[in-house]
Amino acid sequence: MAKLKLQNLQKKYRPDVIPVKDISLEVNDGEFLTLLGPSGCGKSTLLRLIAGLEPPTKGQVMLGNENLNQAAPGDRNMAMVFQSYALYPHMTAAENIATALKLRKMPQAEIDRRVNEAAHKLELTSLLNRKPGQMSGGQRQRVALARALVRDPEVFLLDEPLSNLDALLREQVRAQMKQLFKDQNKPVVYVTHDQTEAMTLSTKVAVLNQGLIQQLDPPSRIYSHPANEFVASFVGSPQMNLLTLKCDGNRAFLGKHQLELSPIATNPSQILLGIRPEDISLASSEEEATIVGQVYLVEQLGKDNLVSVKLEGSQTTLRALLPSDRQWENKTIPLAIKPDKIHWFDIQTGDRLN
Ligand code: ADP
Ligand code: MG
Repeated sequence: MAKLKLQNLQKKYRPDVIPVKDISLEVNDGEFLTLLGPSGCGKSTLLRLIAGLEPPTKGQVMLGNENLNQAAPGDRNMAMVFQSYALYPHMTAAENIATALKLRKMPQAEIDRRVNEAAHKLELTSLLNRKPGQMSGGQRQRVALARALVRDPEVFLLDEPLSNLDALLREQVRAQMKQLFKDQNKPVVYVTHDQTEAMTLSTKVAVLNQGLIQQLDPPSRIYSHPANEFVASFVGSPQMNLLTLKCDGNRAFLGKHQLELSPIATNPSQILLGIRPEDISLASSEEEATIVGQVYLVEQLGKDNLVSVKLEGSQTTLRALLPSDRQWENKTIPLAIKPDKIHWFDIQTGDRLN
């Protein structure tokens, strides 16, 4: 039985402001679900509906067999962590971590035990007597996480908890968090606009756009089989190439080259081709090439170069990830596209076709 279940949730603020349109999903114990989407797509609103900070316009929030719609936030036994940490500045880290337990009138010995255990897990033991003003951003965020942990809630809700941290720190806290929530074995709903966080932390990802789920799948599936053009363009860095091609029967035309369309049950005159930069490689000869392109921009990424080419005989451009040990500037190069790595999308609906 699913622990946390959302059924047809909707939130309408005004007739034209409906940040959450119709969302259904389940999160079981031990599952880490990430709500991933661009700013303004309704992620925080959805999290607030789960927490009970806002009532839904339609639909239900269920925990086990219990409908929580009428339950106040404090009665839901969910712990929420915010981007802004929301710590009390006049309290020490230990006092901040213990606030919810004090309210519950838990015996002091048990409070101390839980605070020390959480502080140990999050490497905060030596900082327990410091106030937030004497701590770094990463330390404050770990205090906020510890405060959620000690409550031993039924569900964890996190809203962009790492986005105020610098890149290196974000990577460290991310790895720590992954282990931490694995050990908790409770449903986690995590909000982010950062695809790396979504891909590395989650057991499943819900990609949101305009208040609707575009795809709900494990991260590897989101990456290998994006359900539509939106997911294809939002997930993956560097971004997937998306090219509109003319077709005729079962052939699509890319520059002066032809690509086979046979597995697709459609007969369009145009089709959208998606190919990730890492799925384009240097062909060994012009005969073997799928396409020939003129390099006009080279961006160095470290191990690889992101090479932008203009296709021979057309205005179409695309980007390929090629080894950085060669000079690509101004060269005309033959490129091979792996056919099984091509994503085909309907030109009208944007839906995946293969
Ligand atoms: P996200 O977290 O994905 O960036 P939000 O859920 O915060 O997005 O917001 C989604 C949309 O809902 C935004 O356009 C925002 O302006 C609108 N919105 C959020 N809260 C309210 C509110 N209390 N009243 C009116 N509109 C709101
Ligand atoms: Mg938000």
